[in-house]
Amino acid sequence: MLGKFEDLIEKASGMGLKAYFVDAGDIPVENRIALKCAYGCRGYGKRLSCPPNVMSVEEFRKIIEEYNSALLLVDERDTSQVSDVLEAWGEIRKDSFHKMLELEQEAFREGFTFAHLLRPGSCNECYTCNLEKCIKPELRRFAPEAVGINLQKAMEKAGLVLEFCNPEKTVCVGVLLLE
Ligand code: SF4
Repeated sequence: MLGKFEDLIEKASGMGLKAYFVDAGDIPVENRIALKCAYGCRGYGKRLSCPPNVMSVEEFRKIIEEYNSALLLVDERDTSQVSDVLEAWGEIRKDSFHKMLELEQEAFREGFTFAHLLRPGSCNECYTCNLEKCIKPELRRFAPEAVGINLQKAMEKAGLVLEFCNPEKTVCVGVLLLE
């Protein structure tokens, strides 16, 4: 089994992603993360990948309990030459998501039948999200934060530091649940 994880980590590296193995039980799921979405995020409710359009923290907590393992996927970009990082964030996270999704599909082919990606940021596969019904359901994934994952703590468990507010470096983080 260890070899299969190593294979995936190597494949991630070939895509320009750093991947860190963690026990799924070491990924903290906290109710208070929902507070940050519902009160203060201007994207709240605007996409089907965001609360309140995704499963609840409570539902997700039950789901993650059924997994043994996960990979934290980190895609670091040098944005020191980018004049407007917020403007560039859409394209950066889209590109990053596509790489991570490819890894999810690779994991499935490797025998991780329940491989499931929690994507970096909200879904922006369509310019405007169709809140009635997802137009590209095969691409619909939600972000770790949308279901209560405390990414900062999860990364600390893997010996990593998640930096905020550094326009020189933009970091996309995803979680690939594996089993
Ligand atoms: S694929 Fe399009 S419709 Fe579906 S969640 Fe993403 S942006 Fe919304």
